[in-house]
Amino acid sequence: MSGVVQAADETWKTDDHFLHPWQDVTAMDRDEWTHLEASGGIYVRDSNGNQLIDGPGGMWCVNVGHGREEIVEAVADQMRKLSYFSPWSMASTASSELAQRLTAMTPGDLNTVFFTTGGSTAVDSALRFVFFYNNCLGRPEKKHIISRVNAYHGSTYLTASCSGKMREKAQMDMIEDTIHFLPCPKPKDRAADMSVEAFCDEKVADLENKILELGADKVAAFIAEPVMASGGVIIPPEGYYKRCHEICKKHDVLFIADEVVTAFGRLGYYFASEDVFGVTPDLLTTAKGLTSGYLPLGALFISDRLIEEIKSVSNEPRSFFSGFTYSGHPVSVAAAQANLDIFENDKLLEHVREISPYFANALKSLSDLPVVTDVRVQGMMAAVECELDAGTPDENRDTGFTAKVDAICQELGLLVRPTYNACVMSPPLTITKAEIDDMVAKLREG
Ligand code: PLP
Repeated sequence: MSGVVQAADETWKTDDHFLHPWQDVTAMDRDEWTHLEASGGIYVRDSNGNQLIDGPGGMWCVNVGHGREEIVEAVADQMRKLSYFSPWSMASTASSELAQRLTAMTPGDLNTVFFTTGGSTAVDSALRFVFFYNNCLGRPEKKHIISRVNAYHGSTYLTASCSGKMREKAQMDMIEDTIHFLPCPKPKDRAADMSVEAFCDEKVADLENKILELGADKVAAFIAEPVMASGGVIIPPEGYYKRCHEICKKHDVLFIADEVVTAFGRLGYYFASEDVFGVTPDLLTTAKGLTSGYLPLGALFISDRLIEEIKSVSNEPRSFFSGFTYSGHPVSVAAAQANLDIFENDKLLEHVREISPYFANALKSLSDLPVVTDVRVQGMMAAVECELDAGTPDENRDTGFTAKVDAICQELGLLVRPTYNACVMSPPLTITKAEIDDMVAKLREG
């Protein structure tokens, strides 16, 4: 259609002109999309007036629930005061105050925040900071990055290259020579005669062996989600994350914790690395729950040690030539402040810690279904793995089955996030026990 805007009619749900993330380009004129129009609490409402439980919490992000007037008001107030400023030339009080509030909450000496526009740009900035740091320290060859199969770190060129969902990477160009992948630390996939402890030893050894193979003087960083999210809620064996951190320290390799999903209450704490896994990373990235998805905002936290090291070797200015027009956007920052106020006022972390065992038990009750082969839950993130053909390896198990479960569940009033062979559940953290029962009953029926 050339330049004519078609009036909405009964076919308007077909998004002919809108390429969605991850969409099959050849199916744009065939795909039917559910359009959402209203929301409140754990619910969203579609354009036919059907109420649906938001099982994935948007995309692991609507942590304080939908329709929080406190955030709406804070955002409107900030827009009236100052809708935008250039973070290059000016400071905004709103962003400076948020930086102070956040760095008082972060683990260890992660006392500097670099604001971004979301998770991908936070991780991209972390990787670029690592390159910058090694250049400042006079070791430009220390640039290799180690990641893991099934990890997801974003959709920029650099972060997609560090993501380990191999099938999704096949048709997209990627950086290949300096990015390396370790096998996924998924305990379910260990050999039948191997203990979880031995499996953990093996996965930790994978990291050390890769560093030794490449040469520690070449390896800049290891990047890891504490619990892999879109890879299918992969919960590593006990001790794995901490031992990987120790290996990194031993070989002078920076540890980047990608907490885009796991921060802001998803695992019961503001940041999971330290409080759940006992690790103080060198760099930590986050987004999503920082504003509960009300507005885009991401953050990279940088340790004092790295900044001090750069200062100690530099007799001249060392500018980090990186940033975004919307870095620390004052309106997004206002949403984050109001979001954090809700965490405090509603005692949301305490609520998560109290309710997550109930959430886990409810989802694990689905294990009796013949098609369910594994239920993985940590905090308020869960994956119900379904297998029709147990012989096919993980990467190729997307039989479309979980997408069908999602379609049926939508008719029953529940949104599910199908990822490969798993149904992912990460509802708003405000969910009650009765709502969990309803959600799980619908999933069982679906
Ligand atoms: N890192 C992790 C662990 C994620 O799960 C995601 C998104 O799901 C990202 C990074 C990218 O974040 P965004 O989609 O906000 O760019």
